Amino acid sequence: MMDTEPPYFDANSEPLAARIATGLHKIGLAMKQQAWQQANTAGLSATQGQILATLVAGGPLSGSELSERLGVTLPTISDSVRVLVEKTLVTKSPDPRHPRASLLTPTPKGAELGARARSWPEFMADAVQDLTPEEQRAFFAGIVKMIRMLQEQGLIPLTGMCVTCKHFRPNVRTGPAPHHCALVDAPLSSDQLRLDCQEHERASETARREVWEQFLRRR
Ligand code: SF4
Repeated sequence: MMDTEPPYFDANSEPLAARIATGLHKIGLAMKQQAWQQANTAGLSATQGQILATLVAGGPLSGSELSERLGVTLPTISDSVRVLVEKTLVTKSPDPRHPRASLLTPTPKGAELGARARSWPEFMADAVQDLTPEEQRAFFAGIVKMIRMLQEQGLIPLTGMCVTCKHFRPNVRTGPAPHHCALVDAPLSSDQLRLDCQEHERASETARREVWEQFLRRR
């Protein structure tokens, strides 16, 4: 008998983009749950854990800088910092750059918890290890594009990524490392792009657009 019906899953599958979004949602839920569990074990909220981790990675920082890096409102940062100061996990000192602002520094105990909080995404890294090198490269390229798009929509803080940095020079040469970081004057490959570089300096909106177009234009 001739099979005139389309294969079952051709007619009964969501588009690939929708299933990727579903997969990311599931991964996001797992990450949130882990962050909460680990933060609770340490007696912290997830935001407090993120603040300590960020201060360990790139502190001391002001409340405004934390707000920008974490994409959390300044009042929420202020509330969390107040608790961290009460728990003697963070100290405040005058910010020499802004007379009315404070710089936040983790105490030794805060730094220990912050270092632990920084390793929270490690369970994800373990899962990624199971991907082949080609799958990892394709995944990373997709993640860079997605984060960049979400950054431009204001949904992820505009910090840390090469592709939005004023020092980034995309596709300036051929070969395995076609990009260049003008800050350290060194080539970098697409696999070496940074997502959380502490030296990142945000390019202007026009420059970001030009850099992105140049980045997408392979030589
Ligand atoms: S400073 Fe950091 S974010 Fe900027 S281009 Fe260099 S490595 Fe990338």
